[in-house]
Amino acid sequence: MQVSLAGRKALVTGASRGIGRAIALALGEAGADLVLVATNEGLLEELAAPLREQGRTVLVCPCDLSDGEAVANTVKAAAKELGGLDIVVNNAGITRDGLLMRHAEADWQKVFDVNLGGALRVTKAATRYLLKSPAGRVINISSVVGLTGNAGQASYSASKAGLIGFTKSMAQELASRGVTVNAVAPGFIETDMTAELTDEQQGAIKERIPLGRIGRVEEIAAACAFLASEHAGYITGTVVRIDGGLSM
Ligand code: NAP
Repeated sequence: MQVSLAGRKALVTGASRGIGRAIALALGEAGADLVLVATNEGLLEELAAPLREQGRTVLVCPCDLSDGEAVANTVKAAAKELGGLDIVVNNAGITRDGLLMRHAEADWQKVFDVNLGGALRVTKAATRYLLKSPAGRVINISSVVGLTGNAGQASYSASKAGLIGFTKSMAQELASRGVTVNAVAPGFIETDMTAELTDEQQGAIKERIPLGRIGRVEEIAAACAFLASEHAGYITGTVVRIDGGLSM
């Protein structure tokens, strides 16, 4: 089975680094034209160059997802330039970890604003284009801690659990128009976000993972390319766990 996204137009948030970058590369390699969103324009340009060499149309769209007006303008301008949107991957996310009793309200507001608010804003702005697509797709990058919780990550876990509720609601809102909406829940994946963990913390995490290792960004990206493809047309409202068995 080969995944082809030729002629499809995909917007990926948080595309400058880590999982989002890998997702953009996977969708581009499968043939999709791309809208790359994050705040670091330089990193987005670096990613765009090899994709353009492969013949893809790539729009670099620096945008802070906590700015509602900027998100609405970015999505509208990108869809106009590409002539529509078929796939949205809400991947951008941040953490502000710490025990709740010491957690500043400004920090949890920021986490909700980017992780959950960003996905709501992008999806809201993109829906009118997804409805016109022959096979619209929304993929929300949640987290295994949105299912299990995690001490020291109350706001992050709550935002990721919220994304799952959002996914199921949108799946029901858009199903009659053939748009599928799914969540992906990664476990521990090698990125800047997990690079902050000490060797000791990484060792302790690996001991809890049945497959005995941290995951790779390509393993999340491959699942997203599948969910974005025609092969996943009967999958909606689900949460795909990619965590080496951690949450089973
Ligand atoms: P990362 O390396 O820290 O990258 C985060 C991305 O989000 C960057 O591209 C960043 O771009 C973007 N971003 C952050 N704030 C933004 C804002 N206000 N506006 C626009 N873009 C913003 O994280 P990652 O590890 O790849 O994680 C990607 C997603 O997977 C996140 O939602 C995360 O919660 C989830 N996840 C990760 C893991 C893991 O183990 N790594 C596990 C489960 C879930 P700029 O810096 O350029 O703005």
